[in-house]
Amino acid sequence: MRILVISDIHANLTAFEAVLADARGEWDEIWCLGDVIGYGPDPNECVDLLRSHPHTCLRGNHDLAGLGEIDVKTFNPAARRAIEWTQAEISDESRRYLEGLPSRMTIEGYTIAHASPRLPVWEYVLDEHTARENLKHFDTDCCLVGHTHVALIFASTNGTIQMLAPNYKAPVRLVETRTIVNPGSVGQPRDHDPRAAYGLLDLETASWQHRRVPYDIAATQQRMAAHRLPPGLISRLQYGQ
Ligand code: ZN
Repeated sequence: MRILVISDIHANLTAFEAVLADARGEWDEIWCLGDVIGYGPDPNECVDLLRSHPHTCLRGNHDLAGLGEIDVKTFNPAARRAIEWTQAEISDESRRYLEGLPSRMTIEGYTIAHASPRLPVWEYVLDEHTARENLKHFDTDCCLVGHTHVALIFASTNGTIQMLAPNYKAPVRLVETRTIVNPGSVGQPRDHDPRAAYGLLDLETASWQHRRVPYDIAATQQRMAAHRLPPGLISRLQYGQ
């Protein structure tokens, strides 16, 4: 089975549609690592589009905040304003859907977590030390995480751990090593590449492919401006940070 691995859509329907179009015909099922909503202008549309495909979904800190299950005071002022707008916008149906999701699970021999296996809602895995600590907190070979909006792989062989930049040109095989893999963010990349990020995982061959696809950033920005979402959140999309 071939999996489309996505994370941090953040209510950016244009980016999500671009990912689905780019990967068309190359996957059987979606694994979404959370933060479907928050920041962007299309929370209900993104939930609906995800639900129209065979999928498994986790919930992240922004999903929990949108449901009112996390105190918005823990977010910076711009994120807080976006969360408050999202709380007012979210439909009862989207709410019921998100309420039922876990933040970590094991599926088909893979651990998946929104943020990290150790702290599935909050921890940022961005350095080797944090990645090494987290290896103790899952027992599959590979753990897929989102949350940082940075596409990368941590690979551990014989006690040494390496942070690897994504290879967009060729797949890598997730064998003979323990790995923590981040597909990057669909709707708000923060690795200085504004294109939408995703991954393709082939369960039979354990091969992983990082992907990027451009999308119409201005179209998303226009909808954000129309909803008076914070200017800083609007401009960051074009810089990918
Ligand atoms: Zn996020």
